[in-house]
Amino acid sequence: MDGSQISCAALRALALNSREHLIREQREDPELGHIYRYGLLFYAREKYSTTLGELRVYIPKSPREAIMQEFHDLPLAGHLGKRKTYLKLRDTCYFPYMRKYIFEYVSTCDRCQKFNYKNALPAGRLIPIVSNYPNEIVTLDLLGPYSASRPERYRFLLVIADHFTKWSELIPLRKASAQAIASVLFENYISRYGAPISLISDNDPQFIS
Ligand SMILES: [Zn+2]
Repeated sequence: MDGSQISCAALRALALNSREHLIREQREDPELGHIYRYGLLFYAREKYSTTLGELRVYIPKSPREAIMQEFHDLPLAGHLGKRKTYLKLRDTCYFPYMRKYIFEYVSTCDRCQKFNYKNALPAGRLIPIVSNYPNEIVTLDLLGPYSASRPERYRFLLVIADHFTKWSELIPLRKASAQAIASVLFENYISRYGAPISLISDNDPQFIS
């Protein structure tokens, strides 16, 4: 099917038929039938349009923010960066200027601003992590190095976060050595809350040791 054929047919149809007739024809059209069957408007790009599964649901204006919260803010969504959030939504959703909307949403997200999740969540973490109670899973993320504030020379930030409660502690560190991290973790976390069932961190050598 090429574009000019479509528009010629559409023009002829417009000239020959009333709006009501066109609507009726659309409903009965075998190619459009699934839209009415599912009661949803879909958006399909040429390369996505071969099967119904590849069609993306057109998201009307009103639920867009709720959808963003679900795909970005919820604990399992994990405050992914702009691009990852966009790619995740793009599989199933469409609305005009979606990319721009998502980029703006993520770059004005409070928690992303505060905790710099872009650094805190390593790119490779694709399997959703499920925790069922506090202190079951604790995540460690090392941020930095930052330029040093003179007298103390704290150049790193260790983020210790409980995956279930989302409680997090930020601890400044002078050195990012395995030993420094271990002792800070013990003094600031384990001594107060007990040892978590599991610790998750990215693959930095400091954490592996
Ligand atoms: Zn965020």
